[in-house]
Amino acid sequence: MIIKFKEGTKQQEIELLRSALINKGFAIHESIGATTTIFGVIGDTTKFDMDSLYAYDFVDNVLRVQEPYKKVNRKFQPADTIVYVRDVAIGGKNVVIIGGPCAVESKAQMDIITPLVKASGAKILRAGAYKPRTSPYSFQGFGEEGLDILKYVSEKYDIPVVSEVMSVEDLAYFVDKVDLLQVGTRNMQNFSLLKELGKLDKPVLLKRGLANTIEEWLMSAEYILAGGNKNVILCERGIRTFETSTRNTLDISSIPVLKKLTHLPVIVDPSHAAGRWEYIEALSRAAIAAGADGLIIEVHPEPENALSDGQQSLKPERFDALVKQCRRIAEAVDRTID
Ligand code: PEP
Ligand code: MN
Repeated sequence: MIIKFKEGTKQQEIELLRSALINKGFAIHESIGATTTIFGVIGDTTKFDMDSLYAYDFVDNVLRVQEPYKKVNRKFQPADTIVYVRDVAIGGKNVVIIGGPCAVESKAQMDIITPLVKASGAKILRAGAYKPRTSPYSFQGFGEEGLDILKYVSEKYDIPVVSEVMSVEDLAYFVDKVDLLQVGTRNMQNFSLLKELGKLDKPVLLKRGLANTIEEWLMSAEYILAGGNKNVILCERGIRTFETSTRNTLDISSIPVLKKLTHLPVIVDPSHAAGRWEYIEALSRAAIAAGADGLIIEVHPEPENALSDGQQSLKPERFDALVKQCRRIAEAVDRTID
């Protein structure tokens, strides 16, 4: 951290801040210029609120030179983290495909779609039981009954499941029913939920908030790791921009940026980014080419009759074709899709 004093700062003010920082355990490297003095602050500043320094009226500027996150930082762990969802490894050479409907709608629907996505190459089944809908009048999901259906298909077809947990109160029921706990975009900064997830050892799929920076997203992941749970997978699902021709804008650049900043695996959700089924295949290919460790894609047996997100859901045969396409892209970038 670098602190620049305002011109004309008195020596006693410089000394005041020096002793305050030394008391907090930092060492100071001072540089005295013709008109201003600069402090280089040496030490772990991750737990220090640097903006608080602006409370001193003689402080002109404070610059961070170290990232505010530690446990998710690649500088502290250079090797990639591999997260296991049952026996499915996410973050290794294999690109993992996750498929399934937006929501659990019935046992019959899940009995149709689960074997189909599995046969196409999905290693994990997705489906929401609690749906965070913009309108309170839209389908809200079947809650516990939906989770029971997920558990049933997971055992019947031998496939791990991922589903979104929206609140701390529901967590206990989720733990026995799903293999991967999804934190949705609207809950990325639900810090009470993140703290509870940090106490578990179950893997967490942390989606990017719809208007959050990569640094804010990594700080949310840091909450989970700080609690002791290292099993976090990041999911880029598109962000809010001025563009209206897609539901969100898929931030492809977040993949290489995250790969530089963190050791955590990164997957991409082209469905919620595009918001239209026509664009899913191109975005999936782009995500794999850019280095994503997996894809999570909405697939529905009858998108026209889906209770949520039918417009962005692939029919099973389109999903099957997409996985075939993606295998070719994966090979081209020296990855595999099992
Ligand atoms: C979902 O995966 O169904 C979902 C609601 O995603 P997001 O939180 O990214 O909108
Ligand atoms: Mn959806």
